[in-house]
This record gives sequence, structure tokens and C-alpha cells, in this order.
Amino acid sequence: DIEGITPEQIDALADQSMPLCMQQLHYALKRDHKLKHWGRQQYGLFLKAAGLSMEDQLRFFQAEFTKIMTHDQFSKEYAYNIRHRYGKEGKRTEYSPYGCYKLVMDMAPGPGEYHGCPYRHFDADHLAAVLSKTSLDAGEQSLVLGKAKERNYQIACQRHFEFAHKKQTVNGKKVVANLDGVGNHPNAWFKASRVYHQ
Ligand code: SF4
Repeated sequence: DIEGITPEQIDALADQSMPLCMQQLHYALKRDHKLKHWGRQQYGLFLKAAGLSMEDQLRFFQAEFTKIMTHDQFSKEYAYNIRHRYGKEGKRTEYSPYGCYKLVMDMAPGPGEYHGCPYRHFDADHLAAVLSKTSLDAGEQSLVLGKAKERNYQIACQRHFEFAHKKQTVNGKKVVANLDGVGNHPNAWFKASRVYHQ
């Protein structure tokens, strides 16, 4: 079932199927047990659109945040926002996850923040270091870095996807990833990757 995800699956899915932007947020959350406002917003809306229920999102963030704070603090300061994300508080608006255009143009992170688009917001050395930890070989990494340097951030991301999801044959069956929306929306990346790995 690729329609829903559970908190227990998220670590593995971050490695397997998340684009760089969401991986950065996930790894920062795991390391620091917190994310600042825009990071929680970017990652929380992504997880919601990826099929994580509100109860599960509360559970997921609570498990990390309560490593550095009490349950009471978490409930008071963070639970409202999570319910809000699902339209259960305030104006009860349904919020959409951010697309790449907004993340690239509008979401530059400050110190101690991990939101935005790494292709746009990381300097070349930092981006190279992050890419070196992916499954891409040296040639592929340098091609992706080149695209980012040319300021073709979303194309860089699409190439990354293609390199990480090559055509292959599994048990005599051809597996080809569908690139639809990849490079335009982090959730498209995620969905296409999950279908590919099915
Ligand atoms: Fe994320 Fe989009 Fe940037 Fe790719 S191009 S890293 S999906 S914001």
C-alpha cells in the first residue's frame, strides 16, 4: 500500500524515497530532536501529503521532541500546530504541501534551520558532501552539482532522481520510474520513488 505511511516506516522511507530537501529535515530531526518552525511546517505538510495521519504525525514528532522536553511542553507548544496542519484547529483550512518553486524561491533557511531546497540553498561544498552520501557515483554527482551551479535547481533534483531510480529488470519485469512531477514537487519525488521500489 503506497497510499499511507506509519511513523515506523519513516526512517527507511527517508533513506529510500525522500528527495534531498526532506532527507535533510528528517536527519536534522533525528539528530537534534527538534526542528524550527518552517522546518516543521515543510516536513509536516510533506508527511501529511505522503499519507501520514494526524494521530501518527503527533506520535512521530512527539517521540523525537520528548527526548529533549516533557510531554506537557510538547502538547502545549507543538501539538496545536500539528492539528492545525490537518485543518483541525483555527480556521480549519486544509493546507497544501509546499512545491519546489516555493521551496526554491521563498524558503531560504537561517542558521540552525534545515528547510528550503538544498540545491538552491547549500553552497557547492555542502551540496557535494551531501550528494557523496547518496547512491550516485562520482560522475553522476558531478553532473547534478553542475546543474545546481547553473542554477537549474529543479533539473538537478530530477537528474538525481533518474540516477537513483534507473531502469532495471526485476524477475524478468522491466521497472521504469515515472518522472511525472519529479523536480516540481517533493511529494511527486516520493510517490514516484515508492512506486518504483514497490
Ligand atoms: Fe526538494 Fe524540490 Fe529541491 Fe528537489 S527541487 S530538493 S524536491 S525542493
